Parts: sequence; structure tokens; C-alpha cells
Amino acid sequence: MAAPEAGASIATAVRHGGALGCVSRLQLEGLWLLGDHARVHVALRPNGRGRSHSACTCVAHWNDVPHASGRVPVIAALVQVLGCLGTEEFFVALESAMRTRLITRAGLASVRARLPLDRRWRADFARWNADSGLESLLRLRLRGLGIDLASQVPVPGVGTVDFVLGDRLILEVDGKRNHDGASMRHKDLVRDAVAAAHGFDTLRFDYAMVVHEWELVEAAILSKLDRSLHLTRRRPPGTPVALQGEGDPQ
Ligand SMILES: [Zn+2]
Ligand SMILES: [Zn+2]
Repeated sequence: MAAPEAGASIATAVRHGGALGCVSRLQLEGLWLLGDHARVHVALRPNGRGRSHSACTCVAHWNDVPHASGRVPVIAALVQVLGCLGTEEFFVALESAMRTRLITRAGLASVRARLPLDRRWRADFARWNADSGLESLLRLRLRGLGIDLASQVPVPGVGTVDFVLGDRLILEVDGKRNHDGASMRHKDLVRDAVAAAHGFDTLRFDYAMVVHEWELVEAAILSKLDRSLHLTRRRPPGTPVALQGEGDPQ
């Protein structure tokens, strides 16, 4: 089911007795989101009261956040998303808000300050130049495996690639461009061949793989790392490869 139209979702939230909040508020801004989120998420004041109305499928949030023009501020909505929909939806939306400058540095600090202590690293880890929600998701998930990677890396002869692991393994995530046509496939093949000629290896994933077949994506990446295929100078077999970052304690 598609997301409700903006004006209709505000009207629904007001009919329910609150303001448009959480993921529904972020839909108004066109931010990257992983799910469709057809239900209207409504912010209600702690001393408020939800009203019944026809065809109500609302998700209620009882928080003390300001309401204005039938909606909550984006910063409050981002924090609601973390509690309601979890880390991944929050992180993807946060990086989208940062990329579009919908939030400022002060806004990011405000989001961070409202997160539980053990979740603040997500705000610290977020970047201002993520190129797509899929890239945000991939980076977050790999960090969960203790793998750090460089984003938007210039590669000789190829141009800018999405990610590089180590110094020679390219990861490309085909979600932001139209990859349906034969000409796009040809361009990708040429790009991979040029990268190979420069000593790089390429793993290429699409939206469906990252979102629905993550175990396969993870296995493909870890297999390369296990064999040190991301490094020009190979490690002896059996040496641990993942950079151990701060764990995800959620
Ligand atoms: Zn309702
Ligand atoms: Zn919600």
C-alpha cells in the first residue's frame, strides 16, 4: 500500500487528536525510507486524548513534543522513528535529512542529545553526503559486522565508486540510478573491466539484494575479506580481517 497523500495524512492526524509525527512526518519531506509506511503515525501529547474516527489505522505516539500546523518538528520525528521503527529506518532517514540539509549541525546535535546513551553512536556515524538510502543501509549493516569502508571514493580510470574496502575491493550499490536498460548494464560492465585493469575487484548489488537477500550480500563480502581479496598486500590465511568497531548494543 502506498504512503498516504501529504494533506490527507495531516488531516488524519488532526482527526485522531494529534499532529503528524514519526515516519509520516518524514514522508512529508520526501526523505529516504526503507518501508512504504501506509499507516499514519500520530503524535499525541501525554495529557492528550486520541479520538476515534472512521477508517482509523493510526499508530499513536505519546510524547511531549511541540506541534505546529498539524505536524511535529523533523528532529522530533526522527527520534520517534528510532523508537518506533528501529535503527535502520532511523539511520537512513537521518542521513537523508542531512544530505538535503533539512537538519543543520545544531539539529543533528539535538537529535543526538535525545537518543539513549547507547544509541548515540548512530548520530556520530551519520554522514552529510550519503548518496542513497541503500548506501546508508549498507554502511550501517557492515559497521554492525565491524567493517568500516570508505564512501564515494575516486578510482583511477573509473570515476567515483560507492565504496572501497581495504585498498582494492569496490562495492557498488545500484539503487539510485536506473539500471534496467541494456546500455546501463554495458556501462557497468565497462566500469568493472576498467576497475579490474587497475587492479580492483568489484562486487555489485542492487536494491532487492541489499534489502531482501542481505545474508547473500554479507556472505559475498565476507568471503572476499576472508581471502584478503580487498588488500593489495595479502594477509596470511586465517588472520582476522574485520576492523572491530564499536558494537551495536541494541
Ligand atoms: Zn486514527
Ligand atoms: Zn511511529
